[in-house]
Amino acid sequence: MVNKSKLFEGKAKIIFEGNQPNTLIQHFKDDATAFNNKKKGKILGKGKINNLISEFLMKKISELKIKTHFIKRINMREQMIRKLDIIPLEVVIRNIATGSIVKRLGVNEGEKFKEPIIEFYLKNDQLNDPIVSQEHIEVFEWASQDELKKIISISKKINNYLLDFFLMRNIKLIDFKLEFGRSFENKKEIMVADEISPDNCRLWDLKTNKKLDKDRFRLDLGDVEESYQEIANRLGILSSKKTKREY
Ligand code: ADP
Ligand code: UDP
Repeated sequence: MVNKSKLFEGKAKIIFEGNQPNTLIQHFKDDATAFNNKKKGKILGKGKINNLISEFLMKKISELKIKTHFIKRINMREQMIRKLDIIPLEVVIRNIATGSIVKRLGVNEGEKFKEPIIEFYLKNDQLNDPIVSQEHIEVFEWASQDELKKIISISKKINNYLLDFFLMRNIKLIDFKLEFGRSFENKKEIMVADEISPDNCRLWDLKTNKKLDKDRFRLDLGDVEESYQEIANRLGILSSKKTKREY
């Protein structure tokens, strides 16, 4: 963490300038927030686990010929990424009803949708990240029609892949959030940004439906650190024999 200038400190990560043009360093913190920053805490070791999980999943996704911002991992908490012009949207892909959609639309918790549902939220903490329509996105020029088409197609492809990928590890992918950005080198190129980790995915055990993601923190369910470790174990990233202190 020496000689790097901090550009931004977010709720879960710090962004530093990279040492090459158009690169950044993502530093993963143990800080956890929920309900738009109303609940704050720490999940011991989360930053390291999310750094490893996000590296692992971004690499998997790039095997599908989907471009991501990931360049390389630098250490246990930091990775080098491509600096992107972030599209100010949170793209949520839902397979099973839980969380805000249950409250908003009154659908039954745990109901499996006949097709995955894609929703867009405006990235704006002051406005509580409101849900927005494709028309809002186009009229307010948060993304062009062509970009939206690409975002939807990439999101579906990632969802199809991850559904099976997690299922093979006895995990149900309930829903998850993606962010996208434009490459500075080629403005037409859209890449997957931010992170893919239990902070922004809902992951339930296939047999027991035990929640193995940030909902354990959001809802005070206990076993928070253990659940992040469990996901890393099932992905083969952490050995199950390792204790909290070792990683
Ligand atoms: P938050 O903004 O919700 O507090 P974080 O603590 O995760 O989130 O901060 C990371 C910030 O970095 C986010 O605002 C995210 O949009 C941004 N970001 C992620 N990937 C990139 C990238 N490749 N280029 C530029 N910014 C990025
Ligand atoms: N999500 C996220 N960041 C947010 C809001 C949601 O990563 O700021 C993820 C969340 O982890 C879940 C999905 O998006 O996997 C859908 O979240 P939902 O809208 O149900 O949010 P809630 O308000 O219940 O957190």
